[in-house]
Amino acid sequence: MSIFTNVISKVAILLMLVGSAYNVLANEHHHHEEHAPKQENHHHNAHIHGAAELALVIDNNNVLINLTIPADSLVGFEHQATTEYEIATVKKLQSSLTDIHPIISIAKGSCEVTDTHIDVSTLLPSKHEHHSHDHNSHSKLNEPSEHSEVVIDYTLECATLTNASSADLHIFEHYPSIETINAQWVTHNKQGSQKLTHNHKTLSWK
Ligand SMILES: [Zn+2]
Repeated sequence: MSIFTNVISKVAILLMLVGSAYNVLANEHHHHEEHAPKQENHHHNAHIHGAAELALVIDNNNVLINLTIPADSLVGFEHQATTEYEIATVKKLQSSLTDIHPIISIAKGSCEVTDTHIDVSTLLPSKHEHHSHDHNSHSKLNEPSEHSEVVIDYTLECATLTNASSADLHIFEHYPSIETINAQWVTHNKQGSQKLTHNHKTLSWK
């Protein structure tokens, strides 16, 4: 349990470092980003289309992967799905993303996924959960939001992580609208960042 808590706190710190508190607090309507004063945007989910973010945390034999991707790069729209086609598209995406293999792999890690969470709530909100969070008028629910993101979390348990030093981002091949991934990584004694592209799909942390 302490390892898991430790990993979670590292992810929280990491996300603060990269100024992505927005993503963690996606359902909040208040500003909490006093640690990221540079990001003076009016929109909570402002992002550049085609630019995704990756946080990768290594703690003992566990790897925590958090990907935040503009919905536009995955399904071609960012409003709440309303038509049957849009709803089916989002559900299919959610289902596809639960398989980590086309997304990312840890080289020499012998890793198994122990937990997966695909958050598509900005595209396909659950009817019951979101009303209580909405402090604004209900009419806002029917307006298309300016931006929305899909947030993916994978937790992996690996057999031989001491030999692992890189991860391959296969997601570029499967979702070509993703042009860049700004990656941040943390191990027990190091941290770093790297910009990944179609021509440079490997994140290295040693
Ligand atoms: Zn957008």
